[in-house]
Amino acid sequence: MDKAAAARRIEELKREIARHDYLYYVLDSPEISDEEYDALMRELRALEEAYPDLRTPDSPTQRVGGMPVDEFEHVVHEVPMLSLDNVFDLGELKSFCDRVSRALKEEVSYTAELKIDGVAVSLIYEDGVFVRGSTRGDGRVGEDVTANLRTVKSMPLRLMKPVSGRLEVRGEVYMQKKDFAELNAQREEEGEPLFANPRNAAAGSLRQLDPSITAKRHLRVFVYQAVNAVQRGLKSQYEVLQWLKGLGLPTQGTERLCDSFDELTKYIDEWREKRFALPYVTDGVVVKVDDLAKQEILGTTAKAPRWAVAFKYPAEEKRTRVKDIEISVGRTGALTPVAILEPVRLSGTIVQRASLHNEDEIRRKDVRVGDYVWVRKAGEIIPEVVRVDKEARREGSPPFEMPKECPACGSSVVRLPGEAAHRCLNRSCPAQIKEGLKHFASRSGMDIQGLGEKLIDQLVEKGFIRDIADLYTLSEEELASLERMGKKSAQNLIRALEASKNRPLANLIYALGIRYVGSRVAELLAENFGSLERLMEATEEEILQIEGIGPRIASSVVSFFRDEANRRTIERLIALGVKTRLERPALEKDVWRGLRFVFTGELERATRLEAENIVKSLGGQVSSDVSRKTSYVVVGKNPGSKLERAVNLGVKTIDEDSFWRMVEEAKEG
Ligand code: NAD
Repeated sequence: MDKAAAARRIEELKREIARHDYLYYVLDSPEISDEEYDALMRELRALEEAYPDLRTPDSPTQRVGGMPVDEFEHVVHEVPMLSLDNVFDLGELKSFCDRVSRALKEEVSYTAELKIDGVAVSLIYEDGVFVRGSTRGDGRVGEDVTANLRTVKSMPLRLMKPVSGRLEVRGEVYMQKKDFAELNAQREEEGEPLFANPRNAAAGSLRQLDPSITAKRHLRVFVYQAVNAVQRGLKSQYEVLQWLKGLGLPTQGTERLCDSFDELTKYIDEWREKRFALPYVTDGVVVKVDDLAKQEILGTTAKAPRWAVAFKYPAEEKRTRVKDIEISVGRTGALTPVAILEPVRLSGTIVQRASLHNEDEIRRKDVRVGDYVWVRKAGEIIPEVVRVDKEARREGSPPFEMPKECPACGSSVVRLPGEAAHRCLNRSCPAQIKEGLKHFASRSGMDIQGLGEKLIDQLVEKGFIRDIADLYTLSEEELASLERMGKKSAQNLIRALEASKNRPLANLIYALGIRYVGSRVAELLAENFGSLERLMEATEEEILQIEGIGPRIASSVVSFFRDEANRRTIERLIALGVKTRLERPALEKDVWRGLRFVFTGELERATRLEAENIVKSLGGQVSSDVSRKTSYVVVGKNPGSKLERAVNLGVKTIDEDSFWRMVEEAKEG
């Protein structure tokens, strides 16, 4: 490539990378895989190495990824938060170690740690108390996410041992694989876009403007660095990790001191497969020069330390064949195409199925029966088809077509305007009834123990159940007549059904299977309406008053309860003894009904979340923004722009002490 062509390609790559950085770091919603992104970066780096005078300071190879967004207060990092250089094989790692030995003129030891795939954060403790947390941002300026970090349960708000003065530690906020899978399942249920992986899910959750949303996302944190550790008398990275652990900060505990390149290799090989058994995603091994004094000698570039490197494991992608594309019919009648795969081992387990979601997805990837495809697991947990190996396609293989008829009941299938899914509209479709029952009986629903898939299939096929309310009319004799069902198990099931009648209101609302109503929305509806009867009469406007519920959900709820057949089912459920009221713990009262609170700044006597829950338990509401409807703005330490807004709008402001006094009075009165 001549220089002019290189310059053109460099410009193109910079633009392309900048676009992906924005999608990834600001919107938490990447369009391409990390491997594809890394390939673009590598190409750019290679061109810049060949033509160094084309390298500019604004090149992504010279900068730390993200950028702080204006919605959050900005925090300037005293010591920049850098990225890490990557190596992709042992040869490159060896070159790194050689470079280090050459620069220091001696062989050195390294600490090896697993690289957590999360979001970098800085945590500041003053005299042992957590005072501020921020994201890395562009490395120099990050975003203040203190309120959100306070909701991360594994992060101590106070250190176990006193550390005087200011201590800054750094680490990674992450989401466990199972929490990621649950979150995405819930988002699919609510028609929200899915997160690509736990890292994006963690970043998106940490950068919420409303901390109560963050609190529900089950984020966790690991720390791995103490800023200015040398000044505290610490000598090595390995020692730093033990010290941090001693302070009660969560560390991974997978670190190992390695005296040679061979030992590093051993560590890397050891964790290659073992890491899949961890509850969180790791994508490599971070190798750090252990001796802190030597780290200082090596220094940093603008982008990354020279004393550390990330060894990235190759992406877990495997090639396999699509034996068939099956259609499963969900509880709302949606037809989901599923690729049936030649079994293949991926991130620790054998994979045989991968959802293809809907027609648009299949078209986009152009997956056909018989194709060879590359598959991977999003977040090491959800199998997905990445792309088709088109070269290997059998000639004349036809594109996949969605069926015209429902594979379960034969009714015709429609795709409604504005929807991605094809649907079977037959309400008596056995597949829908079965799925509806599974949902009804699930853990977040009525939690009916012993009512599994096989049993549900039999109950529907034998005609014992046509509607969920029929569950509560089953007799012991009917149950005992089923295959593999003795008298004893029949009795147990009857008992479990009885017990399920008393589930909390939110579970019942979820169990009904209203579209877009996952457990989070069900909880909001239960809290705000207090009974199923009341919810059934709610208007869209009333439902829209609830923060966190949009028009799509509101309209779905209203049309569900307007439907005659649904109303009949619910009337039967009530007649059969299903409890439909919210039970508030005795202490809680409704004295603050109609009052709206907004919090700004830090509270001293409780976390933001605790205070919010107290408001809610007294019947009040909490919003994240000040408006004319706000009754009180509670002003803590270092209040943000909400205070100004309150003053401008003439909304009443109170300090923390007055707030607690009001709480006391409300509880007594
Ligand atoms: P990185 O994730 O490759 O590595 C640096 C980070 O690793 C550090 O900042 C730190 O937060 C973290 N880390 C985890 N465990 C650690 C440990 N034990 N010790 C020290 N640090 C540890 O770099 P990055 O700058 O955060 O992100 C760049 C990566 O993001 C790229 O490799 C790319 O794959 C991905 N990316 C993807 C897209 C996309 O569109 N798919 C876009 C931008 C970036």
